[in-house]
Amino acid sequence: MARRKQIYEGKAKVLFEGPEPGTIVQYFKDDATAFNNKKRGVITGKGVLNNRISEHLMIKLGEIGVPTHFVRRLNMREQLVREVEIIPLEVVIRNVAAGSLSQRFGIAEGTPLPRSIVEYYYKNDALNDPMVTEEHITAFGWATTQDLDDMMSLALRINDFLLGLFLGIGIRLVDFKIEFGRLWNGDDMQIVLADEISPDSCRLWDIKSNEKLDKDRFRRDLGQVEEAYQEVARRLGILPEGGPRDLKGPATMQ
Ligand code: UDP
Repeated sequence: MARRKQIYEGKAKVLFEGPEPGTIVQYFKDDATAFNNKKRGVITGKGVLNNRISEHLMIKLGEIGVPTHFVRRLNMREQLVREVEIIPLEVVIRNVAAGSLSQRFGIAEGTPLPRSIVEYYYKNDALNDPMVTEEHITAFGWATTQDLDDMMSLALRINDFLLGLFLGIGIRLVDFKIEFGRLWNGDDMQIVLADEISPDSCRLWDIKSNEKLDKDRFRRDLGQVEEAYQEVARRLGILPEGGPRDLKGPATMQ
């Protein structure tokens, strides 16, 4: 790590210059933050699990034709990704009411939504990531109408695919956050899925018990945070059987 040039340090990841031009190394930390940095902690082993979980989901999404920044996993905590120009938006896709949507509209957590809802938030910690509309996004030049069309159709494809993937392992995908980047190839530009998809950025509930298997365990001090992340990895078939398993749920189907 010491030999490489650090490009950026975020809350849960560090980015280093990659071995070839146009590549970046994403290092996954165990640090956890919530409520815009007001709550901080360490979830032991989270970085290792998120590296594996995000790798797995990005590879599967790549297999159905979703363009992603993922190249390959390098080791326990690092993956090689394509360098992209990150679009400063958090794209949230919701299937079931929870979190800020439940609070804003007074809808009980767990209420299925009439259809999947896509929301945009402007990535800016100082402003508390405010929710924005397409009008703000295009007027302020964060993305074009074409970029938004591409992001919306990718977001819905990703949601459909992940809904089914998680349902198959007894998990309800309540909502999740993704980020996109612009990948340049000469003058050609393609919008690709970037960042990560992991229990840090998804709400994942056990289908039978509604037990939370995601970062809400940390946000809401529910305990057994590491175990929840391990359970997701185990059900995805990327942790050896017989590993730690303290949360009850359907057996893995792989
Ligand atoms: N989310 C995220 N990063 C953020 C905000 C939200 O990954 O900075 C995810 C969160 O884990 C959840 C979804 O986006 O899966 C919707 O979050 P919500 O708007 O309900 O906000 P929260 O209740 O987490 O503050």
